[in-house]
Amino acid sequence: MHTFRLWRSDTSSADMSLTLGGNIFVSGSNRGIGLELVKQLAEKTPEDTCIYAGCRTPDGSNAQALRDLAAQHAGKICIVKLEMSDEESIACAVRTVSEKVGAAGLNLLINNAAIAKPAIPGKLCDTSRQDMMEVYETNVAGPFHLTKMFIPLLQKAAASSNQGDEMSCRRSAVINVSTLGASLGMMPESFHIAQLFAYRSSKAAMNMLSCCFAMELKSQKILVMALHPGWVQTDMGGDQAPTSTHDSVQGMLNVMSSLGSKDTASFLDWNGDTLPW
Ligand code: NDP
Repeated sequence: MHTFRLWRSDTSSADMSLTLGGNIFVSGSNRGIGLELVKQLAEKTPEDTCIYAGCRTPDGSNAQALRDLAAQHAGKICIVKLEMSDEESIACAVRTVSEKVGAAGLNLLINNAAIAKPAIPGKLCDTSRQDMMEVYETNVAGPFHLTKMFIPLLQKAAASSNQGDEMSCRRSAVINVSTLGASLGMMPESFHIAQLFAYRSSKAAMNMLSCCFAMELKSQKILVMALHPGWVQTDMGGDQAPTSTHDSVQGMLNVMSSLGSKDTASFLDWNGDTLPW
C-alpha cells in the first residue's frame, strides 16, 4: 500500500534558483499551466534562454495573455503556431524552431497541451468513440509525433553538453505533463471522483510513451519522464481545484531543475514525490 495522498495542496518546494535554460519548447502555452510555465521560465531563467511557446491560434483572442507576456519579455519568448492534431502543423513548428536554434539544438521539450473530453466527470454514458479518438489524437499521437520530430534537435543539445554522462533538463530532456488520473495504482482512490474514460486512457498511454522514449533515448543522454502538476485551477482543473497555477508551476520547475540520470523513465508529481504507474 502506498501512502500518497490523492490531492495535495501543500508544496514542500520553496522558490529555488533554477538550473534550466537554453532553448525550451512548451506546447499549449496560451492559457492554464502552459501559460504559467512560459511566464515563470521567462522570469527565472538566464537572459540568453529562449522559450518557444506553442499555441494553436497565436492571433486569436485566447492568446492575448501570451502575446502580452511575449511583449514584456521581448527576445526571450517566441510564439510558434502549433496544432497538436495536425501533422503538417507539427512539422512546420519543428522547422521554425530548427531554423532559430541552429547547432545549439533544443534543451527542453515540455509536452503540456492536452484535452479532456467529455468534460469532468466524463462518465461512460457520456463518452463516445469520437471523444476517444479526439482525445488520443491530441494527448497521445500529437506528443508522440512532436517528440519524434524534435529528436534531432534534442540530440544536438545533448551532444554539445559538457556534462559527461549525466542527464538533465538543462542538457536535453522531454517532460510529459501527465496526471495522477493515469495511475493504475491510484485507480481505487481516484475513479469515483471523475471517471474520464478517454482522458485517463490517453494519459496512461502517454506514460507508456514516456518510458518508451526514455529507453530509446537513454544512450544519447536525453532524459524523458512524466510529471503530474497537481489538481490545478485552470479551465481543465476547475475553480474548486486546491492549487494555483503559480504554485503548481513553481513546484514543477523545481522538480525539473533537480532531475538527473536516475530520474529518466520516472513518474513524479509537482512536489517531487514518486507516483505509482
Ligand atoms: P487547459 O485546458 O487550461 O489548457 C490546455 C492547453 O492545451 C491550452 O493552451 C489549449 O489551447 C492547448 N491545447 C488543447 N488542444 C490542443 C491542440 N489540439 N493543439 C494545440 N494545443 C492544444 O489545461 P491545463 O492547463 O489545466 O492542463 C495542462 C496540462 O496539465 C495538460 O496536459 C493536462 O492534462 C495536465 N493536467 C492538468 C490538471 C489540472 O488540474 N488542471 C491535472 C492533471 C494534469 P487552446 O486554448 O487553443 O484550446
